[in-house]
Amino acid sequence: MSYDLVVIGTGPGGYVCAIRAAQLGLKTAVVEKRKTHGGTCLNVGCIPSKALLHASHMFEDTREHFAHLGIGVTPPTLDLKQMQVFKQEGVDGNTKGVEFLLKKNKIDAFLGTARIAAAGQVEVTGEDGSNQILETKNIVIATGSDVTRLPGIEIDEKTIVSSTGALDLDTVPKRLVVIGAGVIGLELGSVWRRLGSEVTVVEYLDRILPGMDGEVAKNFQRILSKQGFQFKLGAKVTKAEKTKSGVTLMFEPAAGGSSESLEADVVLVAVGRIPYTQGLGLDELGVQKDNRGRILTDAHFSTNVTGIYAIGDVIAGPMLAHKAEDEGVAVAEILAGKAGHVNYDVIPSVVYTSPEVASVGKTEEELKAAGVAYNVGKFPFTANGRAKVNRTTDGFVKILADATTDKVLGVHIIGAEAGNLIHEAVIAMEFGASSEDIARSCHAHPTLAEAVKEAALAVEKRAIHM
Ligand SMILES: Cc1cc2nc3c(=O)[nH]c(=O)nc-3n(C[C@H](O)[C@H](O)[C@H](O)COP(=O)(O)OP(=O)(O)OC[C@H]3O[C@@H](n4cnc5c(N)ncnc54)[C@H](O)[C@@H]3O)c2cc1C
Repeated sequence: MSYDLVVIGTGPGGYVCAIRAAQLGLKTAVVEKRKTHGGTCLNVGCIPSKALLHASHMFEDTREHFAHLGIGVTPPTLDLKQMQVFKQEGVDGNTKGVEFLLKKNKIDAFLGTARIAAAGQVEVTGEDGSNQILETKNIVIATGSDVTRLPGIEIDEKTIVSSTGALDLDTVPKRLVVIGAGVIGLELGSVWRRLGSEVTVVEYLDRILPGMDGEVAKNFQRILSKQGFQFKLGAKVTKAEKTKSGVTLMFEPAAGGSSESLEADVVLVAVGRIPYTQGLGLDELGVQKDNRGRILTDAHFSTNVTGIYAIGDVIAGPMLAHKAEDEGVAVAEILAGKAGHVNYDVIPSVVYTSPEVASVGKTEEELKAAGVAYNVGKFPFTANGRAKVNRTTDGFVKILADATTDKVLGVHIIGAEAGNLIHEAVIAMEFGASSEDIARSCHAHPTLAEAVKEAALAVEKRAIHM
């Protein structure tokens, strides 16, 4: 069989790349080693985590907030088995959707493990051991990432779990210890806290959400602490020992000092993800990687071997589904002779907790480090009419604009629906907007988005409702 393009992996990077390539007339095939398409994101990442975040949020809202709204309910009870069914239905709906889209676009989908036998040749080994070779002009590697493990801590997906196991627990752990205060740890910690767990987060650094704006992270930590999260920051985990009743986790100050321990029913290891290239045969082909195991690519997603490209979590950049998707589109367009491009300065990131945290562009720390003079406009949700009436007043919008040109350089939001609100900033930044452009755009009342407008007004110290 002979193709213009074979894409390895059908996560958000791979399947989107294949669809765009097919739209542009390339004869395209995909190879996927899971039984279902959609990759980490749809099977064990974005989609199932958001299903559990939604369900657990509804559970907590019903229990804690309905009475104040005048809605009388008997305290809700938890049917975790059904909640997991709800999650799985969402996953199935999405993975089947990808299968449908591949068929609709006449993309040949092979289920099996791919190895690049040579440039222009992809060998597919099926579960039954069958083998076939696909001839192709181009190969896009979109094999994604895998869980980062900690030395000496063995993940069994029962008592010591990765995100995959944490999405599948069949009982609510009384004590959950999360190692790592990044997005995945805080999202999954939120799910189980809402369902009844005591959650302690142990983090090596002295702050949560490394990489996010420091002020936002500090505020977010305060809000999470009020919700019941416990934090052990600046703490290095040294050992996890399974006991009859769970796990004893040993840790010590990152800066050195005496050891402490924590008892847990379940420990979630959420210290990041590493690029996944196992079994592809890259070393034999001489495909270069960086010192973190990421495939090295040029500005056109090409590796150092002609005809082999790579996108998504397996290359440098934020490990996010939408970044992988945009790279998939860009590389397909490049292969079809168009000018595919990704603007890495404007990739939003969202933490889907309650409240949500969302950001795009530069943080204050980054601007300071780069010596860029900037103005800050900030507006709290306590002063936003819609947030007040909804009782979702936690958080604020912060806009960072260039001190000379007023161009928006970064936007950081903590608050209800921050993950949707951030897209106003994304579009504005993509069009090179100034804070004044946002401030002069009419915003419907009463909406949470008015806080974005007010933050833009605040850049020049002329917010109205503050
Ligand atoms: C718990 C969790 C929650 C997340 N939540 C979010 C979120 O809310 N928003 C967000 O943007 N990102 C989120 N992410 C990150 C997101 O899932 C990844 O950034 C995204 O899936 C990367 O897409 P990808 O296409 O590069 O790779 P993947 O989605 O990892 O897909 C790679 C695919 O390649 C297949 N593969 C690997 N090797 C081979 C081979 N040799 N042959 C054939 N197939 C192969 C794999 O089976 C896999 O299906 C989350 C991740 C996790 C773990």
